[in-house]
Amino acid sequence: MKELKIQKTEGRIIIKNGRVIDPANKRDEVTDIVLNDGKIESIGKAGDPDPKAQVIDATGLIITPGLFDMHVHFREPGREDEETIETGSRAAAAGGFTGVACMPNTTPVVENQGIVQLVKSRQTAYCGIYPVGAVTKGLECQELAEMGDMFHAGAVAVSDDGKPVTNSNLMRRALDYCRMFDIPVISHCEDTFLSADGAMNEGALATRLGLRGIPNAAESSMAYRDAQLAALTGGRLHIAHVSCAETVDVVRQAKRRGIKITAETCPHYFTLTEEAVKGYNEMTRVNPPLRGKADVQAILEGLKDGTIDCIVTDHAPHSHEEKEVEFDQAPTGMIGLETSLGLCWTNLVETGVLTPSQLVEKMSLNPRGILKIGNNKLEIGKPADLTIFDPKAKWTVEPEEFFSKSRNTPFKGFNLTGKTVMTVLEGNIIRS
Ligand SMILES: [Zn+2]
Repeated sequence: MKELKIQKTEGRIIIKNGRVIDPANKRDEVTDIVLNDGKIESIGKAGDPDPKAQVIDATGLIITPGLFDMHVHFREPGREDEETIETGSRAAAAGGFTGVACMPNTTPVVENQGIVQLVKSRQTAYCGIYPVGAVTKGLECQELAEMGDMFHAGAVAVSDDGKPVTNSNLMRRALDYCRMFDIPVISHCEDTFLSADGAMNEGALATRLGLRGIPNAAESSMAYRDAQLAALTGGRLHIAHVSCAETVDVVRQAKRRGIKITAETCPHYFTLTEEAVKGYNEMTRVNPPLRGKADVQAILEGLKDGTIDCIVTDHAPHSHEEKEVEFDQAPTGMIGLETSLGLCWTNLVETGVLTPSQLVEKMSLNPRGILKIGNNKLEIGKPADLTIFDPKAKWTVEPEEFFSKSRNTPFKGFNLTGKTVMTVLEGNIIRS
């Protein structure tokens, strides 16, 4: 197996000649970054060469504040056969992420102080782990989880992700509570009556394939309800994994009205359409499902005009045995940490949808801002938290080489441009 090496930084390290993109400081220039004992000492042309310093030649590479994925599933506790916090964080580091927010649908559910502390205690040297607590106990939508306690133990948001909060009154109270702690409620928008038994996007293709369809309205109607509740309470709402045009519209209108709403989408929603389901490839079964061409276009527009604030992976590892079943029986979700940057660079930056700086906003600055996690800009004196990647590197996705424990990706064999070279976490250099 491949290994990730961690180099403790002692003394001076000069990262020379990289293109430093730091949107919070409006910086995009080719220059040097000097680290000293793991902290950023200077950004700018390094003066007299220090003969004792280690020099990393970053010519042609891009250096950004560490990427952050605010939506991953690391399966610990409960399903360590699919992923552990350790293996997940290695996959994160290999993909260029220095921090992730872990969803609470584990066994047991992250629903109280003790389990938040347990997740935090598994923190590894590869990646910062930020737990998300549940909105309702057991994700059962009967009773609110202990939000205050979880917040004080380190939860950065609450969500019943994987399931919607069907009870509107509980959602209202959750938004009300979270206002006190200034954390967002992350909403998995799904009207489960509309989506019931659905396996893919509703439409002609689903009919042809003989699969039950899920209409866009199953997502957008819930997004609309939650936007109204955010308006009613003044609470902060974050819409998870936006898949369709109507939801982009709901978020856009809500933002115009001044509602505290943010949104994310995933690389698969702008890279693939429902056409990928042809052949019943169970790797393409996700929730919400892959949509049509017009939806992909709307997602791209939403990313471009700022309606969609973040790109997340919804990294959802599943064992081989579980995925190797009939399409409509297969569990939903795909892994994404090690393909995200390449998919984003290839499909958003090379195509001119986003500038490199806008991509960094959506993969680092905005998610950290929404969750109020620091280190979202480069600052002198702070421990270095960086992603260094090669925007010209061409590579083919080979899941066998992933650090994740699971292999469920529909991107096997895809040719991508843009690959992580190293990440720097708390001043330590991590590379494969
Ligand atoms: Zn999820």
